Amino acid sequence: MAVQQLKGIREHMIIAGKAVEQSHGDRIPVYNPATGAVIAMQPEAGVEGVDQAVQAAHRALTDSAWTTMLPAQRERLLLKLADVVEVHADELASLETLNNGKLLRFSLGMEVASAVQWLRYMAGWATKVSGDVLNLSIPFPPNTGYHAYTRLEPVGVVAAIVPWNFPLLMAVWKIAPALAAGCTVVLKPAEETPLTAIRLAELVLEAGFPAGVVNVITGRGDSTGAALTAHPLVNKISFTGSTEVGYIIARQAAQDMKKVALELGGKSPVLIFDDCDVEQAIQGAANAIFFNQGQVCTAGSRLYIQSSIYEEVVQGIAKLADDMVLGDGFSESTQIAPLISARQQERVQKYIKIGQQEGRLLTKAQDRPEQGFFVRPTVFADVDIMARVSQEEIFGPVLVANRFESEAEAIRLANQTEYGLGASVWSNDLNRVNRLVNAIKAGTVWVNTHNMLDPHMPFGGFKQSGLGREHGKAAVESYLDTKSVCVAYAS
Ligand code: NAP
Ligand code: MG
Repeated sequence: MAVQQLKGIREHMIIAGKAVEQSHGDRIPVYNPATGAVIAMQPEAGVEGVDQAVQAAHRALTDSAWTTMLPAQRERLLLKLADVVEVHADELASLETLNNGKLLRFSLGMEVASAVQWLRYMAGWATKVSGDVLNLSIPFPPNTGYHAYTRLEPVGVVAAIVPWNFPLLMAVWKIAPALAAGCTVVLKPAEETPLTAIRLAELVLEAGFPAGVVNVITGRGDSTGAALTAHPLVNKISFTGSTEVGYIIARQAAQDMKKVALELGGKSPVLIFDDCDVEQAIQGAANAIFFNQGQVCTAGSRLYIQSSIYEEVVQGIAKLADDMVLGDGFSESTQIAPLISARQQERVQKYIKIGQQEGRLLTKAQDRPEQGFFVRPTVFADVDIMARVSQEEIFGPVLVANRFESEAEAIRLANQTEYGLGASVWSNDLNRVNRLVNAIKAGTVWVNTHNMLDPHMPFGGFKQSGLGREHGKAAVESYLDTKSVCVAYAS
């Protein structure tokens, strides 16, 4: 599809309900990863733009129709937003594929469809938030009773910072529970992928949310992002991205006691036992790493297989990888779309070089489109657990595999990582599955599947994979503060 035919490309931010074009710094080029062509030039919000957006979110919180809006009205607005996003599904999906490169069928069937599902789910929470009535035991003064309860109040202005791998969906993962809780939001998408976030902010206005409730600013992480997290009127930072930047954000939050949630990197293991359905496991392990070109925080990037079926499984996955068709995300025959950027392509290729020293390269295919940021799916066997490609997050279509003999060894390999985001176990032995589920240190453990997420299922990391949980009740509660109220009465 020609870029000119695509609706929805914007070169402005949305602050206080208005399009803001002014850049405080060089404008930022946005690329089509399938061709490398520049498709938009975005403003850099900088300190001034951040201040405007945070002030707007603060005003919307304290002095607008939003301030006194009833929970049922917030629910209706979120449901309306879900409908509006659904109406614009084709436009948003095309925009996402153009800007991120991913397969159009995933943009439409997964990213936009999930965004709608998450908005509808979180809409329901707006009317379900409640505190507790407390029975107190305070014994004095005489003839005094206490009526005590908790109120859950919105934490305030939320700074939401998201990466480029699921730009629209991750924006919704933060905005939807924040709005259900009554907060206001300033969202900074990744510099690579601002386009669907800006359209989302326009659709938020179309749905009827007051100006300033959702603001979207663009700019680079170390300038605009840093100014946003440092702004004194921001009450909570919700971040998804690399562990490295997660440490910077956590230090910033500690400086002025902002609440913080961090969804960070991963190096998720896939454990395949010889009592599983081997064909299903081969396909499942390939999907676990190659979905979205491996640019998934829970990608099954480490594969451990029981010895008796090791060679069969690794060769099976390598064959699937070699057969995969690389191409533009808009083409129906494409299975592997481009990576997000030239920088990410270079980074993944560097790891493939390192992998050639550290393991046995099984994939042989070389062909790839001449232009665009493509990397072929790559499989390495016999990689030691302490090798760099076993320990470092590559964030591309690169799988490292090795064998194990016993269940204990599989558990040791699974947990021998600084990360703890996801893991999957492939086995039909119920006893084994339950032992493994308990032993694996990860925020989500899948059994005979991988990468399945649901708005009702909490999601987040153990160890260096982060702090806090998204989705479900936990997500809504993370945007609420608890106030205890204690009322004395004569008894
Ligand atoms: P990143 O550097 O962690 O960036 C994530 C978001 O944080 C972006 O919006 C980024 O802005 C912003 N940011 C960067 N520095 C910041 C700072 N000092 N203060 C506030 N915000 C800041 O991730 P990335 O550049 O997108 O990718 C780098 C690596 O992170 C990947 O190779 C991968 O290993 C990992 N990653 C993990 C996930 C995940 O879901 N867990 C997702 C994507 C990437 P700009 O990018 O606009 O500068
Ligand atoms: Mg970045």
